[in-house]
Amino acid sequence: MKALNFDTKAIREGYRTTGEQEHSEAIFLTSSFVFDSAEQAANRFSKEEPGNIYARFTNPTVDAFEKKLAALEGAQACVATSSGMAAIFATLMALLKTGDHIVTSRNMFGTTIVLLNTIIAKFGVSVSFVDLSDLNAWENAINNNTKLFLLETPSNPLGQVVDLVALSKITKANNILLAVDNAILTPALQKPLELGADIVIHSATKYIDGQGRCLAGAVLGTEEIIEQVHGFVRTTGPSLSAFNAWIVLKGLDTLSLRMKAHSDNAMKLATWLEQHPSIEKVHYLGLQSHPHHQLAKNQQSGFGGIVSFEVNGGRQAAFDIINAADIFSITANLGDTKSTITHPASTTHGRLTDEEKHSANISESLIRISVGLEDVDDLIDDINKGL
Ligand SMILES: *Cc1c(COP(=O)(O)O)cnc(C)c1O
Repeated sequence: MKALNFDTKAIREGYRTTGEQEHSEAIFLTSSFVFDSAEQAANRFSKEEPGNIYARFTNPTVDAFEKKLAALEGAQACVATSSGMAAIFATLMALLKTGDHIVTSRNMFGTTIVLLNTIIAKFGVSVSFVDLSDLNAWENAINNNTKLFLLETPSNPLGQVVDLVALSKITKANNILLAVDNAILTPALQKPLELGADIVIHSATKYIDGQGRCLAGAVLGTEEIIEQVHGFVRTTGPSLSAFNAWIVLKGLDTLSLRMKAHSDNAMKLATWLEQHPSIEKVHYLGLQSHPHHQLAKNQQSGFGGIVSFEVNGGRQAAFDIINAADIFSITANLGDTKSTITHPASTTHGRLTDEEKHSANISESLIRISVGLEDVDDLIDDINKGL
């Protein structure tokens, strides 16, 4: 049979009924599963017979989400987790050991950097930080113990990009795993495995749910890698709940429509901001003026919903815009139908020293917007109030 296209898979993959002929997927709210006989129980536990045992290991609703997301990312296998951070932590703990070395970028999600510098460091795994876009810096950071490159592309909030095809040539030549956190674009706009990555990680809390209702995460890759990560999850317990799995499963149905709408709204807002005399600089990958516009165009099928910009007048001017807006929610969350607005230098990046902020280009006049699905003309009017 001809392979199905993305939107068909997003709606049909992983679907099965319980025998009650229900059309929408059921939520299996059960912690354990019963066996027909003592023999069947023995065979399940010895893995001679596949099947459910206990919800920390597997659950049919979670399984439906994993199968659908795997189909969308083009992965052999997927394991779902209770949050995006649990997905990152499980990947690191399953695949690394004391003495190993990771290379990552300075532009990672803040809690990921905290995880690497505190908990992961405690287990004797060392970390080097490089400039995301600089291929030479990645290559030069490799040592004999380097096992993993971990990154987000595009970065948040400035939309820096790394060439994944070029970077994966470096990792393959050096026997290093390449893991990409794809939460900002989702497989609707970027498929890292097709570009040479070995592992994709998700915070499904963001665009995959898309409506700010729950936490969820996932790790995707080959059967061999995911078996190891699943082993860590089933033993240590950050398994995804059936209820949250059902929410993100239904989120996938509309993923590409939503990502396209987020991108369209973001493009209109960024274009309007760029021509405004009180705005110093707009960072949006869809704009020709973004230094990574062409690279993003080559490896992404859209530019996503994150727009950031710098205003004349420093922190106070930025605060004035945020405070004048009535529609935008003042929150650091992203990937919601509701647009959100935040001042990175005093919130998400507030723990950085002045020097670290400077090297990450997080200025006092920078505002980040996660563009939602409201009418973009209303969003533009709302920003205009504070300008
Ligand atoms: C939010 C986020 C995470 C963490 O995910 P949680 O679901 O909040 O644990 C990781 N990476 C990126 C890029 C994120 O935006």
